[in-house]
Amino acid sequence: MSEKTAVMSRVDRYYEDYGLRAKELSREGTKIIGYICSFVPLEMITAAGCVPFRLRGNIREPITKGDTLMETIVCPFIRSCFDLALKGRYDFLSGMVIPHACDSMVRGYSAWSFSLELPYFHFVNIPSVVKESSFEFFQHELNAYRNSLEDLVKKPVTDADLSSAIKVHNQNRTKVRALYEFRKADPPILSGTELSKTLVVAASLPIHESNELLDEVLAEIGTRQESPFQPGPRILIDGPCVDNMELMKIIEDLGGHVVTDTICNGTRDNWPRVNENKAPLTAIANRYLAGINCPKTYRENKAGTFEGDIKARFGDIGYFSKSFKVDGAVLYTYKFCDPFGFEVPARKAYYESIHVPLLYLEDLYSAGTIGQLKTRIQAFLEMIE
Ligand code: SF4
Repeated sequence: MSEKTAVMSRVDRYYEDYGLRAKELSREGTKIIGYICSFVPLEMITAAGCVPFRLRGNIREPITKGDTLMETIVCPFIRSCFDLALKGRYDFLSGMVIPHACDSMVRGYSAWSFSLELPYFHFVNIPSVVKESSFEFFQHELNAYRNSLEDLVKKPVTDADLSSAIKVHNQNRTKVRALYEFRKADPPILSGTELSKTLVVAASLPIHESNELLDEVLAEIGTRQESPFQPGPRILIDGPCVDNMELMKIIEDLGGHVVTDTICNGTRDNWPRVNENKAPLTAIANRYLAGINCPKTYRENKAGTFEGDIKARFGDIGYFSKSFKVDGAVLYTYKFCDPFGFEVPARKAYYESIHVPLLYLEDLYSAGTIGQLKTRIQAFLEMIE
């Protein structure tokens, strides 16, 4: 592979020194609002003139302070983010928004707001069932969320502010989809590690700078005449938030290619769009309540059969498997993650129904398991080759 270009080196720098740009902006007086889940409506934060910043954990950092204030049976991803916050890694934050997602998130909210003295904390109570009354309820919740940000920034957040925030966030999603297109080639033009790193960094920048960075990466990748990689098994990663590159790197160092995913900081954050032709609050409610596919959300089983139900629940996996011509999938979950854990049997049944070989891995969000992961993944890649 040729020497790293300036833009990919910048991605590396922002990935390694996570929050570098947010720190600079905070020193200049910009309000940085932290979040950890796909269910946080980012457009509201941008419309208030603040910068949404996706918190990250670190699998190489042992959790110490965090475990003095949060039970060790809470999701290790959440505990790692919390631990880093207690250690001052996110001291540049002016606030945090946590949604009603999984129990670890909800229970975590009280530990976060009790332990960190931030000027602003908000809990977005997004329903877990998609039905008519949920939308009504959620719109009231979004209004309360808007009011809480208006109190923080001491100015109104108008529908016009929301509409322009929706536009610029949708532009970001369009650029991300364009990057995913480079993975449809066989072998792919862009590696899973490169794309995931870029998306992790993109979620740490103000939306306009994130769009500029994605434009530069698109331009850079667009100059690649052919794939710099050898042919190998094409893999879909299915799971929660995977914000450390080790899993992708193991698969790609062993000759596989991560070509698509369902993960939070991948397609879950970036695929669904907000409808720009509807009233902003209604459109945001639809996108976050009905558009995001996560195990925490219950959708009515209209088919009335198990087969019909898993098809409805996991159709996105079928769509991505087909569009990116995958040879196999890795279902990756964290210990103590109930939403994904409960769904493993149904997901396994779905992969069988679409004839995609599957490797199921439950992990601890720790560098200590890299050796075991390597052995399991190597055997799987050899099996599907
Ligand atoms: S990985 Fe699971 S438990 Fe952890 S935050 Fe995500 S959904 Fe919740």
